[in-house]
Amino acid sequence: MAAPNIEIIVSLSKRRGFVFPSSEIYGGLGSAWDYGPLGVELCNNVKQAWWRWMVHERDDMEGIDSSIILNRTVWKYSGHEDTFSDPLVDCKECKSRFRADKLLEEGVARLQEKYQVGHISFADSPFQYIECPNCGKINWTEPRPFNLMFRTTIGAVADEDDPNALAYLRPETAQGIFINFLNVQTTMRRKIPFGIAQIGKSFRNEVTPGNFIFRTREFEQMEMEYFVRPGEDERAHQEWIDYCFDWFKRLGISPDNLRFYEQPAEELAHYAKRTVDIHYRFFPEREDEERQWDELMGIANRTDFDLKAHSKKPEDGEGKRLNPDSTEDLSYFDEATKERYYPYVIEPAAGVNRTVLAVLMDAYTEKTTDKGEKRVILKLHPELAPIKVAVLPLAKNKPEIVSLARRIKNDLQPAMRAVYDDTGGIGKLYARQDEIGTPACVTVDHQSLEDEAVTVRDRDTWEQERVKVAELPEHLRKRLGIKC
Ligand code: ATP
Repeated sequence: MAAPNIEIIVSLSKRRGFVFPSSEIYGGLGSAWDYGPLGVELCNNVKQAWWRWMVHERDDMEGIDSSIILNRTVWKYSGHEDTFSDPLVDCKECKSRFRADKLLEEGVARLQEKYQVGHISFADSPFQYIECPNCGKINWTEPRPFNLMFRTTIGAVADEDDPNALAYLRPETAQGIFINFLNVQTTMRRKIPFGIAQIGKSFRNEVTPGNFIFRTREFEQMEMEYFVRPGEDERAHQEWIDYCFDWFKRLGISPDNLRFYEQPAEELAHYAKRTVDIHYRFFPEREDEERQWDELMGIANRTDFDLKAHSKKPEDGEGKRLNPDSTEDLSYFDEATKERYYPYVIEPAAGVNRTVLAVLMDAYTEKTTDKGEKRVILKLHPELAPIKVAVLPLAKNKPEIVSLARRIKNDLQPAMRAVYDDTGGIGKLYARQDEIGTPACVTVDHQSLEDEAVTVRDRDTWEQERVKVAELPEHLRKRLGIKC
């Protein structure tokens, strides 16, 4: 059983120190969130798991970490200055602002529910029938594009609008990879096919952020650009689609809550030949099954658009350079076939925050004790669990027990994140660790002082097993699947 809705996760996150509303003591900052002690561990574990799987476990991959603020020209030639926008509408009555496509989608679903019909066709603009979710009136402006890039200025400028000082916070990490394609390829002596991976913050001035950490204006992405020979793109694309789906299953996410979504032609980005998204069931409480799903990751075939767009050579029909600002040609000479070409790019792009949300929702379970009490158990994959093991003394007023428990914790710490906790009775301590997803608890009791053994309790089954202290690190390493 996964979480019944996102609100359950919001409340657990705040109660247990995963995620807090940002700037709360000053009234918050619309849909910004801060990751607390357990949240930062979970995010780091997601990123490490991705990096290990994407970079370390493959022979055809390199990593980079490019700047957040790039030369503005990058965003001119990538197409972001002209096309990275969402359609926006305002309610003329209450002045609320919405993303037109989302408003339409949700408004139509509400109308379908109201009239109990599966399909509605409109004779004129559908906006004439959609009520403002804020004030209930129907009085919209015409939809207009709103560029999502955050603007800033570089250096000490007198005028905020000085175009020479204008810069953007990156809205995706991908462009930092494209502009470094040649640097990586030549320094690492790479032959195509190979990929470049990057994890980092991105910024989008979203019109309607919301649903907790699902859509925020500052977020983190895990992106990889895989460069292939034109003609081999379609096969490589399909391989990456399947490979990425498997990764989410490997993280312990139930396949029942994952699906593929083939983007129809009208949704495709201008540069994309085909894009398949991996959806997670983020909204299980919605009646309409189709509306339960939303994007967790997108896997796009970006063709040769990006490397060509940033290259100095390509010309238009009249012999004019398409990019007069670039100083490089990002084409590739294939020694094997003796041809020069612009590689095609396959891009799997996932969000750290959406992955964290999916992982939390999927791990959420409830269990009733023999005494009829409801307990929350977060069945996180051990690789992702913020804390791998909690060492708990059965009697905190017994110095020998406390010191053995502390010693055990210190011995485990180099290999895995371990904590010591003596701030409650054992039942309460177990319940606390279950709720934050700690896969194993180690209890030190009176008998431990005699037989040099401890009780290891399993989070999911609550089964207990006696293990010799000397064998404990190896036992836990195996149980939790810790590789090194
Ligand atoms: P959406 O359609 O939900 O706006 P997108 O298709 O624009 O997303 P991409 O540009 O493909 O998203 O970005 C890749 C991934 O980055 C997404 O699958 C998602 O996990 C994450 N992502 C994108 N925008 C946000 C955001 N505002 N907040 C959190 N994560 C995001």
